[in-house]
Amino acid sequence: MKPFTYRSPADAAAAVRAVSADPDAAFLAGGTNLVDHLKLGVIEPDLLVDVTALTSAEIIDLDGGGLRVGAGVRNSDLAADHRVRERYPALAQALLAGASGQLRNMATTGGNPLQRTRCVYFQDVTRPCNKREPGSGCSAIGGATRGHAVLGASEHCIATHPSDMAVALAALDAQVNVLGVEGERTIPFVDLHRLPQDHPEQDTVLAHGELITAIDLPPLPMARRSRYRKVRDRASYAFALVSVAAALEVAGGVVRDCRIAFGGVAHTPWRAWRAEEVLRGTVAEERSYQAAAEAELADARPQHGIDGGNGFKIPLLTRTLVAVLRELATAEA
Ligand SMILES: Cc1cc2nc3c(=O)[nH]c(=O)nc-3n(C[C@H](O)[C@H](O)[C@H](O)COP(=O)(O)OP(=O)(O)OC[C@H]3O[C@@H](n4cnc5c(N)ncnc54)[C@H](O)[C@@H]3O)c2cc1C
Ligand code: SF4
Repeated sequence: MKPFTYRSPADAAAAVRAVSADPDAAFLAGGTNLVDHLKLGVIEPDLLVDVTALTSAEIIDLDGGGLRVGAGVRNSDLAADHRVRERYPALAQALLAGASGQLRNMATTGGNPLQRTRCVYFQDVTRPCNKREPGSGCSAIGGATRGHAVLGASEHCIATHPSDMAVALAALDAQVNVLGVEGERTIPFVDLHRLPQDHPEQDTVLAHGELITAIDLPPLPMARRSRYRKVRDRASYAFALVSVAAALEVAGGVVRDCRIAFGGVAHTPWRAWRAEEVLRGTVAEERSYQAAAEAELADARPQHGIDGGNGFKIPLLTRTLVAVLRELATAEA
C-alpha cells in the first residue's frame, strides 16, 4: 500500500478545504470501501481526511414529518431508528439487506451512497478499466457481465451501483446536503449519481472536496407502507442482482400515487419515472404492474458476456417489481 498522511481537522469546513486543495486527497468515513481500495491499489491517495467526528451522527425531526440524517450516522443505527422503521420502512429494509452486521456498524450515511462499483475488473488493477484509469478500455464488455447494467450503460462502462440504501433514498425523494469551498448546496438524491457516458470515472456530480453533511427524507405519507426487495445469489452477504424500492398509494382500487426505484441494473440507483407514470391512475392489479415494468424496461439492453450475460435481469426485475407492488396493494386493502 502506498504511504499516506492521515489528518483529523477541527471541523467540517477545514476538512473540505484540505481535500479541495489536494487532488490526491480523500475523505475517510467508516473506511469499509475506501480501505479495501487502498489495499488493492485501486486508489492511491496521499492524504486521508477523517470526517467521522466532523459530521453529525444524529437523526433529527424536520417540520412536517421529515427526517434529517447526519452523514456520520452509522447504517445500523439508521436501520434501527423507530422513526425510520415507521415512516420509511423501505429504507430500514434496504439497509438491513446490505453487507453484514459488523460492516453496517462501521458504514455511514455519507459513505454508503459513495461506495464504488463492485465490477471485478475495476477492483483488479492488472485489467483495463475506464473507471479506474480513464481511456484504458472496459474489460467487462465481452467479459463477465452477470452483475452488470442493462439500463443506461455506455460503450465506455457497463458497471452497476452497488448500494442498497441508495435505491431506497432514490425512491423516497431524499435530498443531499453538501458543503464545499463555495458554501452549502442541496442536491436531489436522484441527481447525485451520474450515468457513465464518456466519463465513467465520475460516479457523482460532487466536485472534488465536496462533503456530504446530511441526507434529508421529506415527509411522504405513502412511504409508511414502502418496501425494499433484493434478489441475490446468496441469502446474505451478497450484492443485488436486481432490487426494487417502492411506495404505493391506492384508493378505491386505483393507484393514486407511487414511487419506484431499481438497484443492480444501472450505473445509478435507477428511479423508474416511466413505470410510475404508467401506474398512476390505473387499477391496482397484476396487468398494471406488468405494464409499468415493461414500460420502464423497454430500453433495457442485456450484455452478452462470457458467463452467459445478464439478460436474466429483465424478467427477474419484472417479476420482482410485480411482486412488490402486489404486496403493497394487498397491505393497503
Ligand atoms: C464484504 C462487503 C459486503 C458488502 N455488501 C454490501 C451490500 O450488500 N450492500 C451495500 O449497499 N453495501 C455493501 N457493502 C458496502 C458497504 O455498505 C460500504 O462499504 C459502506 O456503506 C461505505 O460506507 P463507509 O462509511 O465505510 O465509507 P468509506 O469507505 O469511508 O468511504 C466511501 C467513499 O465515500 C467517500 N466519503 C465518505 N464519507 C463522505 C462524505 N460525508 N462526503 C463525501 N464523501 C464521503 C470516501 O472518500 C470514499 O470515496 C459491502 C462491503 C463489504 C466490504
Ligand atoms: S464496466 Fe466500468 S468499472 Fe467495469 S471494467 Fe468496464 S469501465 Fe471498468
